[in-house]
Amino acid sequence: MTTKILVTGGAGFIGSHYVRTLLGPRGDGSVRVTVLDSLTYAGNPANLDPVRGDARFAFVRGDICDAPLVDALVADHDQIVHFAAESHVDRSVLGSAAFVRTNVVGTHTLLEAALRHAPRTFVHISTDEVYGSVEVGTSTETDPLRPSSPYSATKASSDLLALSYHRTHGLDVRVTRCSNNYGTHQYPEKVIPRFVTTLLDGGRVPLYGDGGNTRNWLHVEDHVDAVELVRNGGSPGEIYNIGGGTDLSNKELTALLLDAVGVGWDSVEFVADRKGHDRRYAVDHQKIAALLGYRPRRDFRTSLSETVAWYRANRSWWDPRVTSRPQPL
Ligand code: NAD
Repeated sequence: MTTKILVTGGAGFIGSHYVRTLLGPRGDGSVRVTVLDSLTYAGNPANLDPVRGDARFAFVRGDICDAPLVDALVADHDQIVHFAAESHVDRSVLGSAAFVRTNVVGTHTLLEAALRHAPRTFVHISTDEVYGSVEVGTSTETDPLRPSSPYSATKASSDLLALSYHRTHGLDVRVTRCSNNYGTHQYPEKVIPRFVTTLLDGGRVPLYGDGGNTRNWLHVEDHVDAVELVRNGGSPGEIYNIGGGTDLSNKELTALLLDAVGVGWDSVEFVADRKGHDRRYAVDHQKIAALLGYRPRRDFRTSLSETVAWYRANRSWWDPRVTSRPQPL
C-alpha cells in the first residue's frame, strides 16, 4: 500500500535531503511525497531538481500558516513530516516575529488539520536547543526544556504543542530532537557553510567569543535515517533525541575547516560573543539506539571533507554573485 507523506520545509537543507533520500535508491519504495514550502530565503527549489520528474513527487508552494491550504493537503495525506521553520538563531536575535509565526502558529495550523483528519501520523522535527545550555553531562528526553534564544523558545513551544496534541487528543505525534546538522545544500548562514564559503572566497571568518562553545555534529544523512526510523517504527507520544557522535568546540571545528580549505588562523577574526549564546549542547541518543537501532554511520572528518568539496564544486548553488539567491546575514 502507498503511504502519502506531506513534507513541510522540503526545499530547505534537511527537508530536501529527506525527500531526495525517500525517493532515491535507498528510499522507501511505497511512498508518495508532497512538499509544502513557502520558499523563504532558506528554501531553494533547485534542491528538489533530482526528484522533480518523479511521478511520486509533487511540490506546493505555500505557507504552513495558510489554514485552508494546510487543511486540504493534510486531508489528502496519511503522514506529516514537519521540517518547516525559521531556523537561524542569529536572525531570531535580530527579530523574532517570523519565528513565532512560522514555528508556533504554523505548527499549530498543521496540528489542527491533522486532528481534524485523524488518524494521521505527525513527525515533528525539533532540536536539542530546546534543552538549553548543558554545562556537563548530556540531555535525555525527560529533561526539562530551558530554551535560551527566541529561535529555541519557539521550537520548544511547537515541540510542547505537538506533544500536547498527543496527550490531550491522542494524535499520533512523534518528536525528534536532533543536534547540529552538517552536509551539502545548507544555506551559508550556519557556521560550517558560512565559514567554508567565506574561506573559499579568501575572506576572514568571525569566531564568537573565545571559541569554546561546544556542539554535537550530526551528518544530515544520519539524521534522515533516524527520522525514517521514527516515522516507521516510533511510538505515538514519544520523543527521540538524535545525536551524531562528534562533539567539537567552535575553535576545534574552525581548525578543521581552515585545514580543509588550506588557509591559516590569519583568516579568523575573534568577535564579540552572540547574545544569549548557549555554551554547550550534548544529547544522549541511547533511547533511539536501543529502541529503533539507530547509530550515526558517517565519519565526521571524511564527511566534512566531502562537504567542503561540494561547496567548492557548487559555487553556483551558493554565491549570490552568480545566482539570484539573497545574501546571508
Ligand atoms: P532551513 O532553514 O534550511 O529550511 C527551512 C525550510 O522551511 C525552507 O525551505 C523554508 O522555505 C521553509 N519555510 C520556512 N517558513 C515556512 C512557512 N511559513 N511555510 C512553509 N515553508 C516554510 O532549515 P533546516 O536547517 O533544514 O531545518 C529543518 C528543521 O530542522 C527545522 O525545523 C529546524 O528547527 C530543525 N533543526 C535543524 C538543525 C540544523 O542543524 N540545521 C538542528 C536541529 C533542528
